[in-house]
Amino acid sequence: MKIAISYPPLESNKGIPLLGQNRQFQWADSPWTAYPIVPAYTATMLQKAGHQVFWLDGINEGLKYKTWLKKLQQISPDMIILETKTPVVKKHWLIISDIKKISKKIVVVLVGDHVTALPFESFKNSLVDYVLTGGDYDFLSLNLVNHLTKKEKLEPGIYYRHGKRIFSTGKFKLNHNLSKLPLLDRDLTKWQLYAYKNSNYMRLPGTYTMFSRDCWWGKCTFCSWTTLYPGKCYRAIPVKKALTEVDHLINNYQIKEIMDDSGTFPVGKWLKDFCQGMIKKGFHKKIKININMRFNADLSQKDYLLMKKAGFRFLLFGLESSNQKTLDKLNKNLKIDQIEPVLKWAKKAGLNPHLTVMLGYPWETKKDIKNTLNYSKLLFKKGFIDSLQATIIIPYPGTPLFKEAKRKKLLKTLNWNKYDMKQAVLTTKIREKEIKSMIKNFYKSIFSLQFVLRKTKEALLNFDVFKYYLRFSFKYFSKLKDFKI
Ligand code: SF4
Repeated sequence: MKIAISYPPLESNKGIPLLGQNRQFQWADSPWTAYPIVPAYTATMLQKAGHQVFWLDGINEGLKYKTWLKKLQQISPDMIILETKTPVVKKHWLIISDIKKISKKIVVVLVGDHVTALPFESFKNSLVDYVLTGGDYDFLSLNLVNHLTKKEKLEPGIYYRHGKRIFSTGKFKLNHNLSKLPLLDRDLTKWQLYAYKNSNYMRLPGTYTMFSRDCWWGKCTFCSWTTLYPGKCYRAIPVKKALTEVDHLINNYQIKEIMDDSGTFPVGKWLKDFCQGMIKKGFHKKIKININMRFNADLSQKDYLLMKKAGFRFLLFGLESSNQKTLDKLNKNLKIDQIEPVLKWAKKAGLNPHLTVMLGYPWETKKDIKNTLNYSKLLFKKGFIDSLQATIIIPYPGTPLFKEAKRKKLLKTLNWNKYDMKQAVLTTKIREKEIKSMIKNFYKSIFSLQFVLRKTKEALLNFDVFKYYLRFSFKYFSKLKDFKI
């Protein structure tokens, strides 16, 4: 079969869509690219199975919509696979009509957290042929293609149209063996498109890996990817395989920095073995590893020191709020007093912690928001964090937060286009204008005098750090523009 894996251009005056491999969709003023790992596995697995695969990322290739359609027409695929998310699913429904105008025979497949939560909706509103639910849609794509070409039995988690009726093979299962994943074909998937414009990388080029699926906690009530990967199904690829991938990235692509996009990086024996392997093979001298981590991971000062020695650099921690009431409501399984000791250990080890917070919870008062703001300022002042990301909370369909908000009639709209972080969709105790102004304050809080002096000193000692802060400054100013009041 000829199969296109594609991100159609989504033209909008809101900015550039940050879609692939993104847990929280945003329109950004300046492009920011993440290498979409699961679609890349899909492409690699289908190509290895003997199919002709086309990687057509109209967003990151900067294509006009008409050009993208023309390219698709030239390729004339038998199947097209599209990753979608809540704020753009309506756009994708229209695009599916255009694809079907090229040829009714093109099989259109939708994947992602939104269609996992609401698989029937896309059949009702578009000409989609298949919806693959759950996070293992690379395995399911191969199964679907094998079904169409060799009559293989469909696995659970697939929705399809037959005549006027929609059928399902049942609830998806995350029982695929990750040790069977191939080494990603990064050339087929145009890795360079995603290697430079990403503020997570200090050294360039960088790329993504995903050594586990997806988060061993997996229970935060707002997290859109728990729809794809419920926590109890956590799996990591074998350490040996992860080290082989690092080796491949160093030697074949001269990659200098990896962002591993597992929701939370594996800990325990896996982490120790990985670190020791990185050191033994000398990879720690050639590449930096960036990860997502939880504050309540069972890690000590010794572990953070080992991670530093093994080449880890950037640790992304989701704080979300500094109000205990909010953390409990979000099911973060986190106590406020756990935060500072972890950040101190990470900083003492020489790592760069990054913090994410969210504003706009229906139950939070202005005082609560100020509390989070002041707390983050304090962490900067003390030098415990190096960067910060503040966003508006969005209740994505499929999450417990969405269900709760719907039940309590706290959703201002069910127009998915508005679930794009440009506005609050949850009813809040304070005005939206104030929330946005507070987000701006978060970003301004980064630039305390002590912080600037500290970073200038670091930048003067290392040219990579200097270039990184130059890029970071551009990102910072464009972030302020993202929250126009
Ligand atoms: S810790 Fe992060 S990845 Fe895990 S469930 Fe919570 S928000 Fe999602």
